[in-house]
Amino acid sequence: MSKILIIHTGGTIGMTKTPEGYKPDGTYFKDAVFHMDSLKAEKMPEWDFLELDPLLDSSRMGLKEWNRIGRLIADHYTSYDGFVILHGTDTMAYSASALSFMLKGLKKPVILTGSQIPLCEVRSDGRDNLITSMLIAGEGRVKEVCIYFGGLLLRGNRASKYSATGMQAFESPNYPILAKAGIYVQYNESAFLKERDEDFEFVAFKDVPIGMIKIFPGFRFELFESLLTEKLKGIVVETFGSGNIPDDNGVLIPMLRKAKEKGVIFVVCSQCPQATVDMDAYEAGSALKKAGALSGRDMTSEAAVAKLYYLFSVCEDAERIKEAMEQDLRGEMSVN
Ligand code: ASP
Repeated sequence: MSKILIIHTGGTIGMTKTPEGYKPDGTYFKDAVFHMDSLKAEKMPEWDFLELDPLLDSSRMGLKEWNRIGRLIADHYTSYDGFVILHGTDTMAYSASALSFMLKGLKKPVILTGSQIPLCEVRSDGRDNLITSMLIAGEGRVKEVCIYFGGLLLRGNRASKYSATGMQAFESPNYPILAKAGIYVQYNESAFLKERDEDFEFVAFKDVPIGMIKIFPGFRFELFESLLTEKLKGIVVETFGSGNIPDDNGVLIPMLRKAKEKGVIFVVCSQCPQATVDMDAYEAGSALKKAGALSGRDMTSEAAVAKLYYLFSVCEDAERIKEAMEQDLRGEMSVN
């Protein structure tokens, strides 16, 4: 019989109504979970339950919480066969991406899930999300950080939140789904992360200043020059299509070159959920490449941010960080 650890971090699944809106309610949620008959069924793995203090709406989570969740998994790694992290949907894809980099050499399932409707409500999707995540974590076939939500199991660092209202809240537009839960859980094993021959290690993230800019028509690059100081270590630039930007009026290249001299790393991602950045495809993308920006290829912006944190946490050499940024480290990007 396998044994899993459930870690409740907050999010809609465990919220109850207050005059100010839904809010995490640890007492209610713990009681509801411990009284749920299905969780005691024979088919279920054995489980223990931990919760973060304070429980948070995931919009308030950041580096500190990622490190706490990663540390908890690492501290209990040998005692459990898998982990289920209950988390708000708003930033679940960021946390899943962060954990995928923090948990180096992971050889057990870490499944993030939550719900669109709190467990306390009649139509809650939390019950199925929790039960199926626990079964997947207990089965132990997928050995990576995943999001299970609305019947789909997705690689965590390939997923993005797609809907604030639908029960299928996440998608993985540039990578196949890892499993579909219908009457049976149908795994797509060929898409699983290939096991790497490395020991499990937890890497805490350092509080490195990382930024993200979304380009829009009429974007005035010069207004952002003041941002590009040595205080900033890395920046994700969300461009159009396959890496295109508006006319830069000749300011971008000198500006990026100056920033580059200060050690700032630029990673280009696309605003199109389904895309691969190719700065050679159009003349409109070539300025970024000439200025030394790196291609995020088909990475989500969430994964790019997490990868920057990770690389700056393990390495100080800008050239090595740049090299690693364009390599696939945890199945987060396709390289050919
Ligand atoms: N605001 C909530 C959160 O991210 C939304 C949710 O959980 O669905 O914590």
